[in-house]
Amino acid sequence: MPHETSLLTLLAAGLVLAFALGTLAHRFKLSPLVGYLVAGVLVGPFTPGYEADTDLASQLGEIGVVLLMFGVGLHFSVADLKAVRKVALPWALLPIAFGSALGALVGRWLGWSWGTGVVFGLCLSVASTVVLLRALEDNRLLDTRRGKTAIGWLIVEDLVMVLVLVLLPPIGRALSADASAGLDLRALGEALGLTVLKLALFTGVIVVVGRRFVPWVLRKVAGTGSRELFTLAVLAIALGVAYVSSQWFGVSIALGAFFAGMLLNESELSHKAAADSLPMRDAFAVLFFVSVGMLFDPSILLRQPLPVLACVVVIMVGKPLAAWALVRALGHGNRIASTIAASVSQIGEFSFILAGLAVALKLMPGDARDLVLAGALISIVANPLVFAAVLRWQSGEVVVPAPEAGDGAGPALPTHGHGILVGYGRVGSQLAELLRARGMPLLAIDADADLVAKARADGIPAVRGNAAAANVLAELSPATATHALVAIPNAFEAGEIIARLRAANPAISILARAHSEAELWNLLDAGADAGVLAERELAYSMAEMVIAQDAGA
Ligand code: AMP
Repeated sequence: MPHETSLLTLLAAGLVLAFALGTLAHRFKLSPLVGYLVAGVLVGPFTPGYEADTDLASQLGEIGVVLLMFGVGLHFSVADLKAVRKVALPWALLPIAFGSALGALVGRWLGWSWGTGVVFGLCLSVASTVVLLRALEDNRLLDTRRGKTAIGWLIVEDLVMVLVLVLLPPIGRALSADASAGLDLRALGEALGLTVLKLALFTGVIVVVGRRFVPWVLRKVAGTGSRELFTLAVLAIALGVAYVSSQWFGVSIALGAFFAGMLLNESELSHKAAADSLPMRDAFAVLFFVSVGMLFDPSILLRQPLPVLACVVVIMVGKPLAAWALVRALGHGNRIASTIAASVSQIGEFSFILAGLAVALKLMPGDARDLVLAGALISIVANPLVFAAVLRWQSGEVVVPAPEAGDGAGPALPTHGHGILVGYGRVGSQLAELLRARGMPLLAIDADADLVAKARADGIPAVRGNAAAANVLAELSPATATHALVAIPNAFEAGEIIARLRAANPAISILARAHSEAELWNLLDAGADAGVLAERELAYSMAEMVIAQDAGA
């Protein structure tokens, strides 16, 4: 079957199928990731029917990785990195070594050399940050200490992989030039030294130049008054830094994007602006999973079931157990240990990159890459279940939930007679300040981790998540609340939220924020008691000011 190389066809087929299967997966209470991966398999070369261009798809997927890692950077500060240092560095190396050793044993069993086995083992031992992010987001763990530690752990793994990717070509050359002569240690040392130097240089450039330069550029661009230019500036910084870091400094493109995000995290203004400017991030992230699915040849499950099983055991049992035991041995609690174990029980983008390079360097047979892919796919599909099981285990074991620093919901959540505040942005936070001054007990919800932290710092109990999701909304005890203030700008979501609130509590008083007459009517139809048209109130206030000034003059 000929390849279909049109970008547009790929985007349309990939996204439409991913949407359909993602929704289906959601209906069956599975992670939508499963739907995206299956969509990939369907448009891939190993199933009949439409066959998209794999190269094109993986490049699109790479954009997804860049944007996602940029997003992680946006939420990750230098202080966060320091905080996870105790757990993650240098200990994250040990489970990688353990997983690689197990993988090498599997390789030997399959009749490969030790060298091939170790590279194969490395492919099975580096977890995917993209998959982890999804898991943390889905389980609303992103702003907890456990979540941040897991991200820090994976950043360390990424750094290790940068070194491995750089060292692999000289190792490959040494091995293929003269197998009996062994490794050229000098060449290896030079490559290692150069990489460390480049990494140091890169960090220096980022810290010194980037910190000053990036906010300055953003201020200037904001001054032009063009939103389009602003979004473009953010995109240019994300992709530009990622690309330059990979080309000039030998840093992986994903890690480069992470640093770019951290740059913008320096000031709250640029952070918020940048987060708002990347609505396309989710679409590209979906394409990453579709592209992974496309590479997968399902027949390997029938051709080599036992080796596939061995890979899955290494990925999902061997390495996570080692990580769990290590974190426990370091004196940390079971919550952190088991979260990290669940986090590293999958592999993804780095394994594909590494496996691709190793096959190109003839360090690994093509079969090995197929096994890595099978292991990745199975572990990615199973990861949401692993997380669910681990979280259930965690909640089952704590008889009296002990609050963890940065974990939990801050001030205790009110359960009746309270006002639910949806959205703690510009509107919600001011509303909260005014109402609290009058003694109204409030419970806030926002999708943004930083704003949830802000609400808690302001002394308002807050929940993080999308209020349009039924399980999240249920946490706000709508049935026993007296008021709901829906202060978010998206009228579609607001309509859903209002309808759910109304269904849960027919007596609750619901006030909503709108930005046009049409939105206002939509919100009233959904069940709101009243709505405030933001722009009209603004005009009224401005007119009042002018009239008052005239009267005073
Ligand atoms: P602003 O426009 O500055 O008042 O900010 C609106 C706030 O609402 C932002 O902080 C968003 O994170 C938050 N928000 C928007 N949609 C939702 C939603 N569906 N659930 C929870 N928070 C939301």
